Amino acid sequence: MAHDISAEAVPEHVVIVGAGHAGGRVAQQLQALGFPGRITLIGDERHAPYERPALSKDWLTSETEPWTDEPVAAVTEPAAPSGAPASSLALAPAAFWDRPSLRDARIERMYDRAIALDTAQRLLTLASGTKIGFDRLVVATGGQPRDSGIVGADLPGVHVLRTIDDSLALRRALRKSLGLVIIGAGVIGMEVASAALDLGVPVTVLEAGDRVLSRCLPPVMADWLLREHRARGVRVESGVAVEAIVTTANAQQKPYDADAPLRYAVRCKRTGTGAETFDVAADTVLIAIGVDCSPAFLADTDLAGRHGVNVDEWCRSPRAPWLYAVGDVAHVLGNAVEGSASGGVRQETWRNAENQALAVAEALVGRPHPYRETQWMWTDQLGYNIQVVGQPDPSDEVVLRGEPGAGPALAFSLRDGKVVAGVLVNAGRERRFLEKLVGNGISVDPASLADPKVTLRELTS
Ligand code: NAP
Repeated sequence: MAHDISAEAVPEHVVIVGAGHAGGRVAQQLQALGFPGRITLIGDERHAPYERPALSKDWLTSETEPWTDEPVAAVTEPAAPSGAPASSLALAPAAFWDRPSLRDARIERMYDRAIALDTAQRLLTLASGTKIGFDRLVVATGGQPRDSGIVGADLPGVHVLRTIDDSLALRRALRKSLGLVIIGAGVIGMEVASAALDLGVPVTVLEAGDRVLSRCLPPVMADWLLREHRARGVRVESGVAVEAIVTTANAQQKPYDADAPLRYAVRCKRTGTGAETFDVAADTVLIAIGVDCSPAFLADTDLAGRHGVNVDEWCRSPRAPWLYAVGDVAHVLGNAVEGSASGGVRQETWRNAENQALAVAEALVGRPHPYRETQWMWTDQLGYNIQVVGQPDPSDEVVLRGEPGAGPALAFSLRDGKVVAGVLVNAGRERRFLEKLVGNGISVDPASLADPKVTLRELTS
């Protein structure tokens, strides 16, 4: 029999591990819902909780600075001074994160890191040595850039991109770069390639697989986007294994001469027949090969695996009903898309961080409801706004409406005659109709989908 969460007492102390978008939003929403207990929000980033989408887009080409650049003085001391100007990235309302507001909301913000969990005692150990008990634990640790294992990945000038500080460091490097190599042609890789073009930096993208944005776009749209990048001068090499990043002669010179030949050679090998090897010169390298969402502090428990923290449709651990997971780290079981090897779904999207957090806050105040979300993500590249609804699979039948690049265009993914996903290129106004088609698994005649004279509104009714 299903466990009745709504019949439980509202907890007195909720601890949230992870102070990013999802974790921060749980705290804000608990307060908005009138949660009467205490909240402890733990995360070691020196910034108040913020949203990440701009970090790989306009943040790289703009001059915007976050609200503080001061190092955190002590692990429990808030970095953002009271009344500090809000950053464009801070989780709104930004004033919520001022010290007096947090105190009023009975939120303790700890600049620390969870390193272990004793499930029997329900006791968290933090990096500072502090131990914290709780009634409910919310895991909102997101993901860390995957370890590439590439020799030379730790050299100066080799970047990853996940945090504000990562984005600022990459931005500074791009301002003086004579050559950028990006490893990984996913969303971060191709968004940064677009930003580098805007900054006039020569850019090469090295991808292990055979397509760009392979996780989000059907092949026909990935091929179109690849052509657009190449037409603007981005060099994209697919089917490539990066073997090492090695220093060249100029890297030995001190001080480094920015006008001298580039200081790194990125050593590559083609994975197909022939196994040709080649080098690409760079002074800046970005490794963007995906994220690892297994929280290290749960490594000794049976609550998480390499797919993230296993939760049910109430975002709650089936093994430990006092534990919830939200955002990138939440692996929702029993919600498997066809072909899901893990038996569940993990969504690395802004919408998921936002809405799953709202659902978990509701559950914590005794108003649980199953969390179901149509996937949605967007990316801005080369002047195009590209939105993806649902989860396209390379084996889906794809129907095009319009021609991408020549005006608003849509690509519908059909499985067994039903619209299961769709891509909008500069056609964001159609999103709500596309979401209805996908969310309701509506079967539509392909000829009507392709015909711009038939409105999507008509097809949904
Ligand atoms: P990603 O979208 O998963 O793309 C990673 C790419 O790197 C994949 O194409 C992957 O190929 C490739 N790859 C893996 N190992 C490689 C290797 N050793 N050498 C070369 N290529 C390799 O991940 P990401 O771009 O790093 O983004 C990380 C996170 O940020 C994701 O959660 C993403 O959703 C989020 N993000 C989202 C947005 C947005 O929604 N607009 C923007 C920025 C970031 P395979 O697929 O073949 O492994």
